[in-house]
Amino acid sequence: MAVKPQKGVRSVEEFKTQLHRHGLKATRPRIAVHTVMMDLVHASPDQVVERFREAGVKVTVASVYNILSELSDNHIYARRLSAAGKMFFDAIPEAHVHLYDRENHTYRDVVDEELSAIVEEHLGRRKFKGYSIEDIDIQFVVRPTKRKK
Ligand SMILES: [Zn+2]
Repeated sequence: MAVKPQKGVRSVEEFKTQLHRHGLKATRPRIAVHTVMMDLVHASPDQVVERFREAGVKVTVASVYNILSELSDNHIYARRLSAAGKMFFDAIPEAHVHLYDRENHTYRDVVDEELSAIVEEHLGRRKFKGYSIEDIDIQFVVRPTKRKK
């Protein structure tokens, strides 16, 4: 199956390398989930299951959720909690800025290295007593503007 990954997403070969690096086997279900994520990039477990159903493949939400969680625990993927309180997974684990469309429940990556740099520089001097910063997750919550005809 030759699926071209979306920009920034690892190819199947790169994904396999990642799995091995984390001591995980390149099992068929993991490869299948990644193949779907190569196209979706950001998805809730339901959305991944929907893709499998369209292709006539039977999977449970729980099994897909477990694979996505395991990949995120190993920093191969990342978790994104949407403004609607829904858990999404991101096939690109590196920190980046997002647009979250709260009407269509979709994510888009925003390329704004300047913004990330400004926040990181600012936070470099910031301390939160009793905590260490583990991750910076910038998400713009948007709704589509309706075009007038
Ligand atoms: Zn993303």
